Amino acid sequence: KAKEAGRARMTLYDPAMDADREERNALELDLRMAIEGGDLTLVYQPLIDAASHEMVGVEALVRWNRPGHGPVSPEVFIPVAETSGLIEALGLFVLRKACETVKQWPELRIAVNVSPGQFRNPAFADYVRYVLRQADIEPKRVTLEVTEGYMIQNPQRTRQAIERLKTLGIKIALDDFGSGFSSIGYLRQFGFDRIKIDRSLVMDIQESDSQREMLQATVALARSLDIPVTAEGIETEEQAIAVRLFGCDTLQGYFFGRPMPAEKITELVLEARGRKMNNRRTNAA
Ligand code: C2E
Ligand code: MG
Ligand code: MG
Ligand code: MG
Repeated sequence: KAKEAGRARMTLYDPAMDADREERNALELDLRMAIEGGDLTLVYQPLIDAASHEMVGVEALVRWNRPGHGPVSPEVFIPVAETSGLIEALGLFVLRKACETVKQWPELRIAVNVSPGQFRNPAFADYVRYVLRQADIEPKRVTLEVTEGYMIQNPQRTRQAIERLKTLGIKIALDDFGSGFSSIGYLRQFGFDRIKIDRSLVMDIQESDSQREMLQATVALARSLDIPVTAEGIETEEQAIAVRLFGCDTLQGYFFGRPMPAEKITELVLEARGRKMNNRRTNAA
């Protein structure tokens, strides 16, 4: 058996690996064309205030309908963009589009995901400032969501990048908190404006007490830094009640709304405005 494994490892030509590489190259090419041709789209998922249950913002999420293949998950193509030098163009497209779109909803803030590959660029803060100026949007309405992987590898550069972005008035959120290795020491020094609790911690809390305790402890950890906390992946009312009880001030998940096209968000915004006007009339009467 060991001998067999040894022989397998020595094989130089592996047709399966060739096919993988070919598929990856094809994907990369298609993605490049999609970015250049503006074929990526954005959907927006509501961010809900835990106290009022009003929509207070949206998270922009990129979508790609690959010709001849159908929709490809960002979990698949973002890593490809990262390793093939496409992430900056993709990220610029997303930021620009998201900022332009949110202008039609003055009552909402917008969250945009940012990849380490964008963050790594020393000019990142400059181009963010440029995009915001061009879109003529107030920086304080914009939150950039980053994950912790890169920060832990490059704490020094990350801290500098975050500081510069915050000088612009932009908010920085730590995404997917609790999904991997999290060091509270690091969190403290970066000055995050918000922490987002990963969906994996919210799942299964109804079935498992230990999961529930894990969630509670993680939210408490985040809150011990005096940073507002969002819970992601809320799919049921029970989950919404639990995370609110544990101290999350913002809720996000299919229970409140799936990621949707801008027109749908506009409908929700108009409905909310109508409700507010009605309330005012009722209160006045
Ligand atoms: P994320 O930033 O943590 O986004 C949340 C993901 O969870 C989204 O998946 C969203 O559709 C999904 N989600 C939200 N609520 C629920 C729920 O209740 N149940 C379940 N099962 N899922 C829920 P999506 O859109 O597939 O994006 C996956 C990841 O890809 C994102 O995770 C983010 O890391 C990355 N991503 C998406 N758009 C962009 C982008 O424009 N730029 C960059 N750099 N990354 C992006
Ligand atoms: Mg996110
Ligand atoms: Mg997340
Ligand atoms: Mg995620």
